[in-house]
Amino acid sequence: MSGLEAMAPAQFEALKAKLWTFMHDSIYPNEQLFIQQTHAIGQASNEWTHAPIHVELMRKAKTLHLWNMFLPVDSAAMAGVSGGGLTNLQYAEICEILGTSCPAEFASQCTNCTSPDTGNMEVLARYGTPAQREQWLIPLLNGTIRSAYAMTEPGNENQKGSSDATNMSIRVERDEKTQEYVINGSKWWITGAGSLHCKVMILMGKTNPEAAIHKTTSQILVPMDTPGITLLRPLCAFGDDDAPKGHMEIVFEDCRVPFENVILGEGRGFEISQGRLGPGRIHHCMRAIGQAERALAAMCSRVQNRTVFGKKLSKFDSILQDIGKIRAEIECCRLLIHKAADNMDKFGNKDPRTRQLLSLVKAHVPVTLQDCTDRCMQAHGAKGFSNDTPLFSAWAGARALRMADGPDEVHWRTAAGIELKLQEHSPLKNYGEFEVDRTKVFRRTTDPISETTKQLLKNYSKL
Ligand SMILES: Cc1cc2nc3c(=O)[nH]c(=O)nc-3n(C[C@H](O)[C@H](O)[C@H](O)COP(=O)(O)OP(=O)(O)OC[C@H]3O[C@@H](n4cnc5c(N)ncnc54)[C@H](O)[C@@H]3O)c2cc1C
Repeated sequence: MSGLEAMAPAQFEALKAKLWTFMHDSIYPNEQLFIQQTHAIGQASNEWTHAPIHVELMRKAKTLHLWNMFLPVDSAAMAGVSGGGLTNLQYAEICEILGTSCPAEFASQCTNCTSPDTGNMEVLARYGTPAQREQWLIPLLNGTIRSAYAMTEPGNENQKGSSDATNMSIRVERDEKTQEYVINGSKWWITGAGSLHCKVMILMGKTNPEAAIHKTTSQILVPMDTPGITLLRPLCAFGDDDAPKGHMEIVFEDCRVPFENVILGEGRGFEISQGRLGPGRIHHCMRAIGQAERALAAMCSRVQNRTVFGKKLSKFDSILQDIGKIRAEIECCRLLIHKAADNMDKFGNKDPRTRQLLSLVKAHVPVTLQDCTDRCMQAHGAKGFSNDTPLFSAWAGARALRMADGPDEVHWRTAAGIELKLQEHSPLKNYGEFEVDRTKVFRRTTDPISETTKQLLKNYSKL
């Protein structure tokens, strides 16, 4: 890949200005309403649908062409559809603005730029057949349906963890007679599956257990109304069921889908994951920058207005140091994200340096920004722990990110593995040790000792 054609600078600046206006006019003033409506939906029944304000703002955003901005120009071209016309680098700026909302994905949901749909749409754009795109990608791009991505499992009898995707145990067997896959097993933490708008999930399951380890799994489109799917319960992250999206535990019993629902081909699940784990996932980190900016703004305003021990909080050195450090950390995280996004544009998602940068972003950004929002909470006193500010939501979001996209440790491991390989070609690899001349001897223990040293030794022995 030789670099994507970016939106012209003037047009891009106009787009950002339009988005800021939308945020101020439509998103920030409606955050509390959105939260009230989504909680009410979660309490009311098991028929979860979009909050009315969400639908109203989706309509508005679509009319304003603040829509599908996540879909990079290359993926859009591959699928023959139109996205927002941006590169990944440009979207990093847009996604950061979207990420200043509370909850973090509120504005993203209103502009059809939310997880897990963005990752799923990219998968369909890049790897789907024309029929799969027609059936699922087009309605997803239109925002008329939602989707889920089902990878994590509660653990089979051997309790193998899902952070190692080769542990996948859900059985996906071929029934040659009916030309169908038959799915049996469980998944959990499947975000978005609680909503009645969710019409399809991409399920990762073991189709070829006898194959080489990275050819064992496939990604399969499973329509949500397929018989044999039970939504057991919504799980709560920090006590929140995240209605009406939900993080669902799902049981599959004799759930059948036609062979043509496999994406890219049988045994190619990991190959797709590598592509999907690029843009679709780095978006969370782009949004996390927006969350941290909002938290820092809240902190700066708070410390200039609150007095303790006879002076404003902003006069205390420890507070000033926190503010300075948070600014530095946000800037470093932003630069890392922009570099990863730029690499995706220039070299594609499979390039080793790009993959490493994506892992570094996922490992470094959430934990760093979690710490930033933590310090902003601290400066707010007890208020920071309440729902009277967006701080707890920002902190909890960053903390959850350190698991939802795979645990930190796995991203560090991937980044380190790539580093070791890349270092094989480092121009510095031969300069780690100085040459040692072992022909020169310091002294033998039997060498004679000078009279001066003998005297010194004698003096010491009198101690
Ligand atoms: C809010 C939320 C939303 C989610 N949404 C989805 C979703 O939509 N779809 C989906 O499929 N999943 C989803 N998940 C699940 C998430 O992807 C998994 O929890 C994650 O991949 C870890 O898998 P596991 O829970 O099985 O942990 P395990 O594999 O059991 O790992 C447990 C712990 O072991 C440690 N560990 C693992 N590997 C290493 C290593 N190499 N070195 C050192 N320590 C290690 C880590 O600390 C890890 O947390 C979501 C999770 C959350 C919290």
